[in-house]
Amino acid sequence: MQTHILGFPRIGRNRELKKALEGYWKGELSENQLHETADELKKRHWKFQHDAGLSFVTVGDFSLYDHVLDLTVALGAIPHRFQNAGSALDTYFAMARGDGNRNIPAMEMTKWFNTNYHYIVPELSAGQSFKPSIEWLENDVIRVGQLGFRAKPVLLGPITYLALSKGGTESSRWDSLPQLTEIYISFLERLAPQCDWIQIDEPILCTDMSGSLRKTFRETYHKLRKGSPSARTLLTTYFGSIRDNLDTALASECSGLHLDLCAAPAQLSDVLAALPEHMHLSLGVVDGRNIWKTNCAAALSSLRNAALKLGSDRLFVGSSSSLLHVPVDLELETSLDPEIKNWMAFAVQKCGEIALLGQTIDGEWSPECLNENRLANESRHLNMKTFDPAVRRRCRNVTPEMLNRKSPYADRYRKQQEALNLPLFPTTTIGSYPQTEAIRKARREYRKGELSPDAYEAFLKDTIREIVGHQEALGLDVLVHGEPERTDMVEYFGQQLEGFCFTDHGWVQSYGSRCVKPPVLYGDVSRKQPMTASWLAYAQSLTRKPMKGMLTGPVTILCWSFVRDDLEREEVCRQLALALRDEVLDLERAGLKIIQIDEAALREGLPLREDEAEKYLQWAIDAFRLTVSGVEDTTQIHTHMCYSEFNAILKWIAAMDADVISIEASRSNMDLLQAFVDFKYPSAIGPGVYDIHSPRVPGLEEILERLEQALRFIAPEKLWVNPDCGLKTRGWPETLLSLGNMVQAVRVLREEYSDTQNKVTR
Ligand code: GLN
Ligand code: ZN
Repeated sequence: MQTHILGFPRIGRNRELKKALEGYWKGELSENQLHETADELKKRHWKFQHDAGLSFVTVGDFSLYDHVLDLTVALGAIPHRFQNAGSALDTYFAMARGDGNRNIPAMEMTKWFNTNYHYIVPELSAGQSFKPSIEWLENDVIRVGQLGFRAKPVLLGPITYLALSKGGTESSRWDSLPQLTEIYISFLERLAPQCDWIQIDEPILCTDMSGSLRKTFRETYHKLRKGSPSARTLLTTYFGSIRDNLDTALASECSGLHLDLCAAPAQLSDVLAALPEHMHLSLGVVDGRNIWKTNCAAALSSLRNAALKLGSDRLFVGSSSSLLHVPVDLELETSLDPEIKNWMAFAVQKCGEIALLGQTIDGEWSPECLNENRLANESRHLNMKTFDPAVRRRCRNVTPEMLNRKSPYADRYRKQQEALNLPLFPTTTIGSYPQTEAIRKARREYRKGELSPDAYEAFLKDTIREIVGHQEALGLDVLVHGEPERTDMVEYFGQQLEGFCFTDHGWVQSYGSRCVKPPVLYGDVSRKQPMTASWLAYAQSLTRKPMKGMLTGPVTILCWSFVRDDLEREEVCRQLALALRDEVLDLERAGLKIIQIDEAALREGLPLREDEAEKYLQWAIDAFRLTVSGVEDTTQIHTHMCYSEFNAILKWIAAMDADVISIEASRSNMDLLQAFVDFKYPSAIGPGVYDIHSPRVPGLEEILERLEQALRFIAPEKLWVNPDCGLKTRGWPETLLSLGNMVQAVRVLREEYSDTQNKVTR
């Protein structure tokens, strides 16, 4: 039985890569020093895999920024605007991050399938030419050999690469395929003599593929086989089930197939029944997406079942996906509850589990290790820390009525209009205001104990008062408190809820040098006490304008945490929703007439298959409705989403039944609003009128123009005015200027619409 992982986290145990990258970008580190750090990390990760007892050391998974970008560079598919961008390394970083000095925009970045990792989207122009070079990977394979390890290089496959790319037209991109196939053949030919196996990732096989794409897949892999008959290729699929693409994968003539048995355990039996004799099977039984110890007993039963059928010499055991999506080493965690820590495994520990599973199947028993694993799993599943009967009871007693507001939207609209007495085109912001150095400093000092809790609270209150003062001066209509007390929109709530714990070093790469440290949701979720109400009541006390209460929604908290895998996600989400429902009611009681529930992650939680999306959306939207529906008709519920691709899910967005939704729109010319018109979306909409991702101040005219565009789609009495997203990453100077222009633009618009204005106030 062979053992391997699909990839190791690159960032380093102590985020060495992050520090080196940022040092290099600031000019504090030379190119050589950056390469030294990278080489050291690679070597460390290889040695580690070898020492853990894995059969192979995965090579080519490391990257200075992103592995998709690396492949783009290896193919020589560098977009024109980066020609002459400097050294190879500077060109590489310019592609990833843009070149501010020369005003060259970066390549687009987007989420890697349904993960929170972002890759750099390949840009292929019509008639794209390539200039391939695979030396970097060859060199690493040689280095691994010199260290005495067996290398298994990994390449992202051509079909997934093209399917994820943009530029030109769809058909012009696929016109590149014959050329690309030749390049892959040359890569395989170069690598094959030096390695037993080459891993080719085709996660596209876990998505809905058209008949013609499947045909293309087969033809391409047939050519690869013919062109490089000696290469032993392991075709990997992950993040879902291969389902109806199984025949395509089996016809690929690859030497092996990898399945993600964590995301889709049920697919094993179909594959076992159909696997041709020449193919090996790699089973991903150790979760590359989550931080829990593997249940070795359950994994062994799948593996034994497969070994019985195929013989263990045709089997690999591995991680379900690359371990890129989990933190590096649990050993660094010294302040976790030891009992809970004992339920977890990070990348390093997962390698050990894979080795253990392989040895066990091969008959090299390690009863102590297996026993430890069993005890850890038992301790987790039988533990009262994960189980709260009151929470379970409350979830069971959720009734359909609890998901419905008291009255339909049209009635609520009238009542809210009376209660709030807002002008036409109400102006507001999305929640956060600049997180200044002063705020970060106070937070640091408070954490270190240098600032007392009272002093910290006083500081935050002063900050809120200032933020409210600015908004009053600007003349905004609906104010916010600015979120200065929140480090992060999920962590802040996790810290106050039962069922969560936090790591000190559990960093996961999000993109480039950027890492996130997701909270760990390990047990039943409940709320000890109000979480935000006192801050918001204070903020409301400072103004006669309506203050908008601000909460992160249940789906977003779920999507941005490491979530327990011993309870359905739907159920966990319902627990979160109930806890937040209490908070919503506390806010209402505290005098807040407007409450916003951010669901920034709703879309990224979508499964990769369309027919599974429905089920997810059903429970996700129910969770939102459960969160908000306890309030009176006069309380106005807002939601906010940071993206603009709504067409496919608009039905569900409407089903949220929010009174107002704010969305990202400024970058797409408001055209996305057509979908809302087509759908006859009933409620009010605040399409972001300027992009908050850059310090650029939008002019009054420009904002006015956007608003006029929006009015082509939205009735005047349903149009709200706000920026695209929160202002946390902005500085004050541009924030004040931008919002000032926004308010002015609205004043001009109101003049034009003064008749409508009278009608609405009447
Ligand atoms: N209320 C949050 C903020 O303004 C929303 C952030 C988000 O949508 N990502 O920062
Ligand atoms: Zn946003």
